Amino acid sequence: MIRITSVSTAVVEANFDYTYVCIEASDGTKGYGEGFFAPGLAQSMREIGALLVGKEPTNVRSLVTMMRLATSASSGAHGEGALLHAVSGIETALWDLTGKLLGVPVWQLLGGKSRDTVPVYADLHAGTGLPSIDNLLRNRTPFWASQSGTTETGDFYWQSGDADELDFERIVERVQAAGHAGYRMVKLDMDVFEHPRDAEDQTLGTDQISEIAAQAIELRARVSPEVDIAYDCHWRFDIPSASRLHAELSPARPYWLEDPVNPTPEGLARVARAGSIPIASAENAYSLEGVSHLARDGGLDIATPDIQKVGGLLEGLTIAEWTHRNGIGFAPHCIASPLGFAAAVHVMAAAPSVRFLEFHGSDLPFWSELVTAPVIVEGSAPVPSGPGLGVELDLEVAKRYASPHEPFFTERAPRAGA
Ligand SMILES: [Mg+2]
Repeated sequence: MIRITSVSTAVVEANFDYTYVCIEASDGTKGYGEGFFAPGLAQSMREIGALLVGKEPTNVRSLVTMMRLATSASSGAHGEGALLHAVSGIETALWDLTGKLLGVPVWQLLGGKSRDTVPVYADLHAGTGLPSIDNLLRNRTPFWASQSGTTETGDFYWQSGDADELDFERIVERVQAAGHAGYRMVKLDMDVFEHPRDAEDQTLGTDQISEIAAQAIELRARVSPEVDIAYDCHWRFDIPSASRLHAELSPARPYWLEDPVNPTPEGLARVARAGSIPIASAENAYSLEGVSHLARDGGLDIATPDIQKVGGLLEGLTIAEWTHRNGIGFAPHCIASPLGFAAAVHVMAAAPSVRFLEFHGSDLPFWSELVTAPVIVEGSAPVPSGPGLGVELDLEVAKRYASPHEPFFTERAPRAGA
């Protein structure tokens, strides 16, 4: 009988730390997964993954139940926090391994597919390109991009004051370019239309609200009607400001308004009642319980769970079933490398109904090189047909950008001083 022989990790320093886990079976087959960045995540993956050594790998649900029980004293009864990021990544690797051992795609193991392509939206951020952010949300220059050849860490990202780089024409160009590349939806950070402001000030004045709305309406008029535009507010506003903003933004017809306030059921519901734009939230929710809690008061129109964080593919599909039955849109958040992105594609292939999957790597020069086959073609993700996830991590490329302070799977130990 085939058994799991090792669980190892690697970290690629990208726009975030892409944290990978590899599970090797006794016949030499390897499955790969990815977890959402967190301090100490690779170490947690190795520690939790050690529970799997000697086990038969294809009974995935049973192994996930064991890992969630084993971490329940430190991650809560339903599972939440960084240890669930680790379990999510390991679970993905188990699916990839199982699919390869059985010679079938992961979506087949999840119950078969409902579609052949998954719609993708491009996150265009604030229109100025994407910074790299470390596990504690500080801006950084990765070692491969810095003058010194070592990672350079700066301020917290919300203190960096990028908003004064606003260039409306540049935003128009980027939205149009995404449309020409085949995307039917893009997302912008709401602060693209704000003057620099104190990140801790949650209040928007009347003038600010009018200015944001006017620019969103102008942007809507300037770009092709075939491209929908959503806005992410990153939890920045208080309820009265977000409610007024929602009401005034309506003529710009955004596809959704994301995280206008701190995610509480009451807050989302109050903002939702102020207008007709769908409200999106739940990227930081854990497990079905965390997502369904946000919908309690009727203020969640689009659920945006992150598959690398929420508990993995089984949990993601459970949430997709729940959103479908409750008339809520399913549009997973995704800041992963193409490997984690592909894992989300399998969930969305199997889900009964879906909106869009996020693509967050448009400014990372080597994003698509990290796997051996393209995962996005003209604004959509073709559902893979090969065994497992159907895409392979390009180990040569991954190694080039791998953190020198972390092991690279079983090939090397971390450098001294790490
Ligand atoms: Mg967001």
